[in-house]
Parts: sequence; structure tokens; C-alpha cells
Amino acid sequence: MSATLSPESATDDNEDVMADIGNPEGELLEGQVLDHCLAEHPGIDWAAAAWIGIVHLGALAAPFTFSFTGLGVMLALYFLTGCIGICLGYHRLLSHKSFETYRPVRWLIAWIGGLAGEGSAIHWCANHRIHHAKSDHEGDPHSPREGFLWSHMLWCMQRIGSEDRRAMHRRWVPDLLKDPVLRFLDTTFLLWQIVIGLVLAGVGYAIDGPAMAASLVVWGVFVRMVIVLHATWCINSVTHVWGYKTYDNGDDSKNLWWVAVITFGEGWHNNHHAYQKAANYGHRWWEFDTTYQMIRLLKFTGLAWSIAPIPQRALEILAKKRLASHI
Ligand SMILES: [Zn+2]
Ligand SMILES: [Zn+2]
Repeated sequence: MSATLSPESATDDNEDVMADIGNPEGELLEGQVLDHCLAEHPGIDWAAAAWIGIVHLGALAAPFTFSFTGLGVMLALYFLTGCIGICLGYHRLLSHKSFETYRPVRWLIAWIGGLAGEGSAIHWCANHRIHHAKSDHEGDPHSPREGFLWSHMLWCMQRIGSEDRRAMHRRWVPDLLKDPVLRFLDTTFLLWQIVIGLVLAGVGYAIDGPAMAASLVVWGVFVRMVIVLHATWCINSVTHVWGYKTYDNGDDSKNLWWVAVITFGEGWHNNHHAYQKAANYGHRWWEFDTTYQMIRLLKFTGLAWSIAPIPQRALEILAKKRLASHI
């Protein structure tokens, strides 16, 4: 099966994951699942809206609970959940299969990704694969063409019935559904948020009483989660509006340095849309990709292999552009 990518972007490289997932259940055909969800269940997912509201409200306590220990914990967990959990785990490992690792490492990374508060790996990757299949065209879950705020955060508060949600997962992430640990993490998503909050409260209390407990919870959970959420959301909104295009791939994806900084390299989004399986999103010397460096570190320690390279086609385009800029 080939994805409904525009002809310009329908490279062999981008079809790999879509070809892998196929249509094993013979369910709703590609392009119908999300439309079906929207048609059947319009309205707001109040649980998701409450979750996002509570996270933001909790972060408002930041000025009253500041401590340098809390700040340090926030930064460490920002890197751990944002870079390792979401960018390296949910995105490159699970959505795009840009490299391989041992199953326990994959489970650990998926669990860390869950702590980012962006939903389970199964649901996140399903939405993400739909986004790539329909980028900025009908059926894209979060295109700025339907409104900037929609693409940034409103899209994830739309209601999807539980049966449609299951159908969406069967259609778009059948490979991930085969993994019992990922299914377990899908059903226990909320539990782990409470666990990490309690652990931080306990550690803070042990260090310096109730004030430190509050500081670690507010900064380590709420402030950190707001930062990671908005950084991730900037990929869907900002880098589909502003930045430069290296590849004319038929959608609105762009490369933007400051989004790459706050998202550990994901801001080189046009590079990624054009060559989705490649593990390295930095295609030019100044396009630094922190997450790719983490994948290289995993490879160095023997924990990652089969790392998908930037395809020859892309290197040829880059070479031509370099030559043109010197003429
Ligand atoms: Zn992607
Ligand atoms: Zn995108």
C-alpha cells in the first residue's frame, strides 16, 4: 500500500513505515478513519481538555514554589521526557522505525515518553502517522491551514469515541498494538503521571520538607510538562508556517532553528517530512540535531543499530544546492 503523499514527497524512503503497517484488519480505508471519527463524534474531549487545563493551572504556582533544585529537576526531566521520550522514542523509534534497539530499552523509552503527558505511544504514533500521510491536506489531524491555534493545541481536545479510537489504532499502528507492554502503557497512561508526582513529592519532602516537595512537584511535573507540550506543539503549528524549505515536498513543513533548539532537533521539520525514516534531521552543517546525537550515543553503547541514513537522493539535492549557492 502506498501512503497518500503528494507525488513530490512519495519517496520510497517515506513509504517504508506505511508499507509495513498495511491494512491487515481490512477496516476503514486510509483517509476514512479520522474523517469518520470527526463525523461520528464531533465536540470536545472533556477529559483531554481537563488534563491540559490542570497541567497549565498547576504551572501557575511556579513563582511561589521556585527553588534551584526544582529548576534542576525540571531541566533534567525536560530533556528526559522531551528528547529521549518523545523525540527519540515516540517519534523516531516507534513512529518511523528510524533505528532498532532491544525490547526492554524500547519499553523503557516508551514509558519515559508517556511521562511527557502527550498520551500513550500507541495513540501518539497513530496521530503522527496520519499527519505524515495527509500533511496539510484533508484528514491531517493538525494542519495550520485549519487555524494556527487548532494545529497548536485544540486538535488534541477533539472527541473520539472509544470504538473509533480502537479502529484508528488498528489501522495506523498495528505493529505497536502487537506489543503487550505498549498496550499496557496505553491503558495506564494516567497512573504513571500520579506515580511520578508522588515520587517527586516524596524525594522533595525527604530533602527539605513540604516546601521542597511542592517545588519538585510544581517544577518537575507541571512547569516541565507545559514546556514539553508547547515545544512539541510548535512542531505541528510553527514549523508548518514559518521557516525555510530545503525540499519542495508538497506540504507546508519548514525548517526553523529556534524550534529545533527547544525540541532537540525536531525543528528541522521540512528535512524530516521529505525523508521521514532518516534518523538524522540535520541535513546541513548548521542544522544541529540533539536527538540524533543521542541515537549515536546509543549506537556507541551498543543499544541502537540499523540506523536509517539520509538517502542518497537527499544528498544529491543538497550537493546541487551547495553548488548553486557558489555560482
Ligand atoms: Zn514524523
Ligand atoms: Zn509535520
